[in-house]
Amino acid sequence: MIIGKIEKNEKTVGFNSEICCTICGKQVPGGLKTGEKYHQTKEFEKELTEFKKNYLCGICRDKKRLENN
Ligand SMILES: [Zn+2]
Repeated sequence: MIIGKIEKNEKTVGFNSEICCTICGKQVPGGLKTGEKYHQTKEFEKELTEFKKNYLCGICRDKKRLENN
């Protein structure tokens, strides 16, 4: 899964971070990727934190979408 910004032709950095669905607690499978430059910024740390707070797995996202319709 890719988070943050990756510029055109930029190398990506893979990293591991435990990200779990905020509803069912299921962990995101596989690693995460972001752009090499973005990886070293404070924004990246912030975005990752926010991402973790709001993450929903595919199943819960679908459920939520159905509820909203
Ligand atoms: Zn879930």
